[in-house]
Amino acid sequence: SIMPATLSAISNGASHGVLFKGGTHLESLSSVKVIAFDKTGTLTEGRPAVTDLIVKDSLDKTETLSILRTIESLSAHPLAVAIQSFAEQEGAGLLKGIEIRDIPGSGLEADWEGKTYRVGKPGFVGKAEAAAFADGALERLGNEGKTVVFLRDEHGILALAALKDTLRPEAVQALNSLRALGVRTVMLTGDNEQTARAIAEEAGIDEYTAECLPETKVARLKELEKTYGAVAMIGDGINDAPALATSTIGIAMGDGTGVALETADVVLMKNDLRRLPYAHRLSGRMNRIIK
Ligand code: ADP
Ligand code: MG
Repeated sequence: SIMPATLSAISNGASHGVLFKGGTHLESLSSVKVIAFDKTGTLTEGRPAVTDLIVKDSLDKTETLSILRTIESLSAHPLAVAIQSFAEQEGAGLLKGIEIRDIPGSGLEADWEGKTYRVGKPGFVGKAEAAAFADGALERLGNEGKTVVFLRDEHGILALAALKDTLRPEAVQALNSLRALGVRTVMLTGDNEQTARAIAEEAGIDEYTAECLPETKVARLKELEKTYGAVAMIGDGINDAPALATSTIGIAMGDGTGVALETADVVLMKNDLRRLPYAHRLSGRMNRIIK
């Protein structure tokens, strides 16, 4: 049976927008030594906008954007949503008969009229080719904290789009409060090294790992757990679900995708990162009452 103190703390949490799926998660939260954050949609708003577009000289810009828009139209990833609305504004249409496969943490693969396309990060479309196509722009865009997405077919790179996302306004304050509670903060992101560093510095995160695949996030969490003890992971995407399931406590952003919400033990209904130190303190207070 559930103790009155636990019940009252769970209801206190709920009224502050923190949903605990059970008393044990509330109990263990104050023992967490490390909180690992996903980047896009968790530390950042997750509403990136396209800032730069480079299309291969010999190609028609609108036609190329139509391919990109159609492929991204089957993804709910924040980058996909941004690219779709940009392409639409630029007059790109939607093509019929494209078949798409989602590759979490990397991008998308598509078949259309006998051709195979890939949309996603440099490592997914071919790092060397991506760098050669960008011709020096890749590092500059990364240093500006922008994420670069490429489109390729089986012959080579067709286009790149750079996107800029913004840090959540409360992120710095939330991380400072967690540090004051003795919690180490870590960022695990699928994004490239430069972009990851720019966001990590802006947020004031203790450490980060870039270019993570979903399984890299899982492996890194296990290492952190060995080194520091109980680890919580907070994320919003399909790509975060395995990590949410692995960590001592999985936390989902309320606006996250269905899989993240289902896998998580705790949900931040209001997407406000300051609810993390709040929930940690709530857990500490409750444990002092019931022990
Ligand atoms: P994060 O950890 O920042 O939330 P993800 O793990 O979801 O990022 O994705 C890692 C990288 O893979 C992105 O930075 C992007 O380059 C690429 N990517 C993933 N999904 C898509 C998509 N739908 N469209 C374009 N690029 C994508
Ligand atoms: Mg994310």
